[in-house]
Amino acid sequence: MDSTINVLTRDPAHADTSRKPSWLRAKLPSGSGYNAVRKLVDGHHLHSVCQSAQCPNLGECWSRGTATVMILGNVCTRSCNFCAIATGRPSEIDLGEPARVAEAVAKMGLRHCVITSVARDELLDGGASVWAATIRAIRYRNPNTAIEVLVPDFKGNTEHIDTVLDAKPDIFNHNLETVERLQKPVRVQARYERSRSVVRHAKSRGFTTKTGIMLGLGEEQEEIEQTLRDIASDGTDIVTIGQYLQPTPQHWPVKRWVPPEEFLYWKKFGLSLGIGVVESGPLVRSSYHADEQSEKYTGAEHLNIANSLAG
Ligand code: SF4
Repeated sequence: MDSTINVLTRDPAHADTSRKPSWLRAKLPSGSGYNAVRKLVDGHHLHSVCQSAQCPNLGECWSRGTATVMILGNVCTRSCNFCAIATGRPSEIDLGEPARVAEAVAKMGLRHCVITSVARDELLDGGASVWAATIRAIRYRNPNTAIEVLVPDFKGNTEHIDTVLDAKPDIFNHNLETVERLQKPVRVQARYERSRSVVRHAKSRGFTTKTGIMLGLGEEQEEIEQTLRDIASDGTDIVTIGQYLQPTPQHWPVKRWVPPEEFLYWKKFGLSLGIGVVESGPLVRSSYHADEQSEKYTGAEHLNIANSLAG
């Protein structure tokens, strides 16, 4: 592809970030599928990142009977400037959590589940042993469910990453979130190269790998191109690209609304670099339609269980 063309949309209408454009208006939460997922998450004393991160797709995903479960609590030891999850001193480890997550996955009837966590930098293993216990509990209870993990960077400690990998998740996801220049202001305690090395490590052990970035944080065209080149050279299989949304006025501001056509351009650009799956669109998030993105790698077909759950 000709990367000399300036593709970044500089339409002044897209620089006015005070009002959301029409393409970002997501479906409101409603319906029996939504209520069933809510009951299940609350009833099993679980956290979902859909709620904690104020995800715009919550209505759509929960209505189709899918939710991303967040383990290891809902308080994070880090303070990323784009993230709505509370920063602070997390509570004790909940040893019953892996079994409850496995049970909730079974009740949702998922063929593909996505698990994520906050960062637990205060724990000696960064929470890796709980991650491994959760993966094993899900597999034991749901042998036919594909398990996708969206993990923190474990400070780049390969021993801890190996603890997670030894439990054999089907998809290993760790997000770069943004281009290299914006890492420090946006992801205060993280590092671009360290995150790349986490994903590369999983790839070197033969796992299907995934990462994601957000646009609209102030990145330039060449920086997006370079990031996608880096992702491709790391052998990453799946990439998600979505619009950044500011969760509160105290968070990093949205610098521009990226129109759907530009997302399509980045999808084609990523595919031209040899990345297997590039999911790119304003409302795309790490786990949005994750089942469909990864069918190619897991062989699992999506099962919409919203109706059976509601029944
Ligand atoms: S590490 Fe993850 S959960 Fe914690 S603040 Fe950063 S993005 Fe949010």
